[in-house]
Amino acid sequence: MREVHFAVQAEREYLTQLDAAIGDGDHGTNLARGFAAVVGALDGQDELLPGKALILSGKTLVSTVGGASGPLWGSALRRAGRAMGEAVEFDLPALATAMEAALDGIQDLGAAVPGDKTIVDALTPAVQALRAGADANAAVVEVVGAAAAAAEQGALDTVPMQARKGRASYLGERSIGHKDPGATSTALILRALERAVAAG
Ligand SMILES: [Mg+2]
Repeated sequence: MREVHFAVQAEREYLTQLDAAIGDGDHGTNLARGFAAVVGALDGQDELLPGKALILSGKTLVSTVGGASGPLWGSALRRAGRAMGEAVEFDLPALATAMEAALDGIQDLGAAVPGDKTIVDALTPAVQALRAGADANAAVVEVVGAAAAAAEQGALDTVPMQARKGRASYLGERSIGHKDPGATSTALILRALERAVAAG
C-alpha cells in the first residue's frame, strides 16, 4: 500500500490529465487522497494479518474516494482480503487467488468485461499472468513483474477502444484514441506490487 501510495502521488497529474480527456479529471486526485488515507489507516498496524490489512485498506478507499475508483478498488481489496482469510503469510498461488477475487469484485460491481476500456482491461491480463506463473512454479518477483508488464500492455491496448462503461462511455466514438485512466492506474498498482515483492 505504501508503494501504491508513492506511485499514485508521483503520477497524480498524469492520471488527472488522462481523466480530463475522457472523464471528469479527478482520477489522480481521488486515488492520491484514497491511498494516502490507506497508508494513514495502516500506520502502526504492522501486526495486522495480510487479509485484515487488505480489508481495512478497501474500507478506507470506499469511505474516502468519490467517483468510481474508490468503490471499485475498495471492493477489489476487500475481496482480496477475504480470499486471504486468516493466513499469516501468503505465497504466489495465494496472491494469484487474491487477485482473481479482486478482479471478480471489480467486475461484479462495475459489470465491465475486457474491451470496455476500463480497469478490467489491465487487471485481467495481469491476473492471468499471476495464475500462469503460479501454475508454472515460477519465481515470484519475475511473475509479478510479468503481471505488471501485462497490465501496462493492457492499459496501452485501451487507446483504440471505444468506452462502453463509466463516464467515458458518454463520449461514444470520441473516447477512441485516449488511454483509459483506470487501466493506467491499475498498471501503476501492479508495478507498485512488484516493487513491494522485490523489497521482500
Ligand atoms: Mg473521474
